[in-house]
Amino acid sequence: MNELNTNEVQQMKRCSNKNCKDPVKPITEFPKNKASKDGHSHWCKQCHADYRRARHVKMTVVEPDTDNVEMAEVEAEVLTAGTLD
Ligand SMILES: [Zn+2]
Repeated sequence: MNELNTNEVQQMKRCSNKNCKDPVKPITEFPKNKASKDGHSHWCKQCHADYRRARHVKMTVVEPDTDNVEMAEVEAEVLTAGTLD
């Protein structure tokens, strides 16, 4: 008779990432994970995205080739000085 519409009651879950800015979210904000007890990942989608982005940035960091830039500038100065005389 008094059946609750469970679709309207959102189950909340706490993100286990201690760096999470907003750890308590609806379970729909957690990616599905069959290995987990409740069927959802311990980390929210935002934390997964941040983690992936951080790793990607680390892997693609390229050291700026400052030596070549400095050499080119010195060469340009030498050439300019030479033509002035
Ligand atoms: Zn999180």
